[in-house]
Amino acid sequence: MIKKNTIDLDFDREHIWHPYTSMTKSIPVYPVTHANHNIIYLETGEQLIDGMASWWSAIHGYNHPVINNAMIEQINNMSHIMFGGITHNSAVELCKKIVNITPPSLTKVFLADSGSVSVEVAIKMALQYWLSQGITTKQKLMTPYKGYHGDTFAAMSVCDPVNSMHSLYSGFLPEHVFVPAPVSKFGSEFNQAEAQELEAYFKANHSQVAAFIIEPIVQNAGGMNFYHPDYLACVRKLCTHYNVLLICDEIATGFGRTGKLFAVEHANIEPDIMCIGKALTGGSMTLSATITSDKIAIGISEGEAGVLMHGPTFMGNPLACAAACASIDLLLKQNWQQRIKQINTQLQQLHKCSELNAVANVRTLGAIGVVELNEAAGNVDVAKIQAYFVEQGVWIRPFGKLIYLMPPYISDDTSIKTLCDAIYNAINNKHY
Ligand SMILES: *Cc1c(COP(=O)(O)O)cnc(C)c1O
Repeated sequence: MIKKNTIDLDFDREHIWHPYTSMTKSIPVYPVTHANHNIIYLETGEQLIDGMASWWSAIHGYNHPVINNAMIEQINNMSHIMFGGITHNSAVELCKKIVNITPPSLTKVFLADSGSVSVEVAIKMALQYWLSQGITTKQKLMTPYKGYHGDTFAAMSVCDPVNSMHSLYSGFLPEHVFVPAPVSKFGSEFNQAEAQELEAYFKANHSQVAAFIIEPIVQNAGGMNFYHPDYLACVRKLCTHYNVLLICDEIATGFGRTGKLFAVEHANIEPDIMCIGKALTGGSMTLSATITSDKIAIGISEGEAGVLMHGPTFMGNPLACAAACASIDLLLKQNWQQRIKQINTQLQQLHKCSELNAVANVRTLGAIGVVELNEAAGNVDVAKIQAYFVEQGVWIRPFGKLIYLMPPYISDDTSIKTLCDAIYNAINNKHY
């Protein structure tokens, strides 16, 4: 029996920031006592079927005994130890796994503490690499509109300028080169005009551009755009031709979510630098990694600085590494491709929403399902729709015009059906 404390919601409202919220016009937060498998338990007694996997991370659901046991074992040895001048088995074993499962040219692993930080590290690697080659003009990044790479400043500077409110920080934020967001959709024809347009941007800007950064195949927080693999393949070709490094941000897409272990595999390409995070620990601990090639790592190490100038206090945190090892093993020892296919089959039920007037588009890829409302319907009232979803016994958190699902991989058919029905009913009954 889990002991139920009374969660002090008044204190929470008065003193605690939640993601992207106002401190004065707060919207309700739901008090959670515990979570197990794909069920979230509220203090008020409701049991919610999880449709979010805690923002792409909890791929094996919650409270997984294998991950828990790996963490308990690690706690009994040490929860943390500094990584400067010290190493330990959890980090070494994890990095072996990461090198094994990521594209073959990626061999050098930098462990960091969150997705945003791994993006900062990736950007630093790219800048330091060109400096090490004696090239001082490459100080900008190139990236498509509608991207999302995190909330720290360098990461934010390559997010969609409108979504991340660049206007608030103009004069402080570095300005980069934005190219049109990918238009051709995954599963449809690739429009060659996009390739020509991209080439024009490379031609005009390559001498100042250190790296092109992109979320492979799925632009997530910037609009859940599932785009054509040829766009990514084209970016890879242009990067190589114009001496621009390619950074692929797999923080959301990694670990099977799109149907491939990493989304770059849809385009059969290898980036020069790759960021992973979110599902890396199965959602149990915060951990990320930036992985790069021998070429970049050697370049940086033989440059003027002689080292990569980054080293977080909690770098290589043993507890997070132990959780990540367990999570990766859990994923790889099951037929995860089949699991993702099965979830995708179930997510097809969302297409029923297409018959509703408020719906502009329904799309799925791997274990991701998206219902996009049209202009007339407008943005979702998050507080209103969440209250309805909680009543329906599901946990779904939409943003803008997007109501979407990325359930834990352990979700059974009935759970997915309940999630899809809840979305249909919410729209049909105008609870948004
Ligand atoms: C979530 C996310 C990040 C940021 O990760 P945090 O752990 O929240 O800092 C970066 N890039 C992508 C693609 C993400 O989805």
